[in-house]
Amino acid sequence: MSAHFSARPFKCDKCAQAFATLTKLRKHEREKHKDGSFKKWRRCDFCAFEGDTRVVQRHVVSKHRDMMIHCMICKHKTRLRISMQRHMISVHKRTDIIIP
Ligand SMILES: [Zn+2]
Ligand SMILES: [Zn+2]
Ligand SMILES: [Zn+2]
Repeated sequence: MSAHFSARPFKCDKCAQAFATLTKLRKHEREKHKDGSFKKWRRCDFCAFEGDTRVVQRHVVSKHRDMMIHCMICKHKTRLRISMQRHMISVHKRTDIIIP
């Protein structure tokens, strides 16, 4: 069937699924065909670095510390302005604070 021509060239060799990008295939492999230690695989929000959740967290702290947004009321930290804004509203009930 020509209609079946694939936009997903990356096929999993462990099951029948195919993916549009290699990253998605790798993620699938890690999630569905657990290579043990790679269960909590994730990607750095700032760069292409990938790894185990704990490894990525350590990486973010060491490489992107300056990019973290700190809450001015409590010790909460986040990478995203939008989630800090959400934190302000949900935790501190402050809608007047605009995160720069
Ligand atoms: Zn698979
Ligand atoms: Zn990074
Ligand atoms: Zn806070």
